[in-house]
Amino acid sequence: MTGSKQKTATQPVLLSVREVSKVYRMGHVDVPALRAATLDIYDGEFLIIAGPSGSGKSTLLNIIGGMDHPTSGTVTFDGRDLTGASDRQLTQFRRGQIGFVFQFFNLVPSLTALENIQVAVDIADDPLPPALALERVGLSERGDHFPAQLSGGEQQRVAVARALAKNPRLILCDEPTGALDSETARQVLQCLYDLNRRFAKTIVLITHNAAIAAIGHRVATIRDGAITKIETNATPLAPAEIRW
Ligand code: ADP
Ligand code: MG
Repeated sequence: MTGSKQKTATQPVLLSVREVSKVYRMGHVDVPALRAATLDIYDGEFLIIAGPSGSGKSTLLNIIGGMDHPTSGTVTFDGRDLTGASDRQLTQFRRGQIGFVFQFFNLVPSLTALENIQVAVDIADDPLPPALALERVGLSERGDHFPAQLSGGEQQRVAVARALAKNPRLILCDEPTGALDSETARQVLQCLYDLNRRFAKTIVLITHNAAIAAIGHRVATIRDGAITKIETNATPLAPAEIRW
């Protein structure tokens, strides 16, 4: 890893986080979850945000994805200020621009893989055909299967296809391999890696697993709600090369 930013400095900024803080109020106690976080997400990059449990990763990702409001600071997407947006505008932003992948897949058990993808497509602005999304994660043969008929890794790839099918500008992944063994995790990471490299999808992945950081173009480290460093990987590894 080097401190060089040369590779990305010329790319346009897709989303920009400036001095964002978040305080959760629990009864009479204030819990500071983010402290003046500042971060740019470049168009086309694979950005890893790494930090221990409780460091504020999900809080940051939820704010980036318009699922939550910061207490202070600003977030801009493609030059548009999201901080002052109404809930309705944020919903519009999420539906049109953001794909989410979560740790526990969150597929609807009573719907097939293709139907799960169709649900997301129905609320998107400019979606891909569900079958194409499934093909891009290598699961064309599994469209008619229910989640219970798929392995954990396959379910997560369906969830990736669901995020992809919205044809979003940005795919946000919250510990996408946290519930998977290392071999299966590798396959899911490979699938995300391919979407970034082959289809130029901008991806932000948060993880508490430092080994995964090696596949990112850049790695932001977060501790106690503060981003403590942002590094550029001179030579990002392919998922097959990660050492767990
Ligand atoms: P991470 O994803 O890195 O594990 P989180 O963003 O989930 O961290 O949490 C950061 C801090 O904020 C933790 O101390 C957590 O307990 C607290 N927190 C997160 N969500 C809430 C919430 N909805 N209400 C109160 N405190 C919260
Ligand atoms: Mg989390």
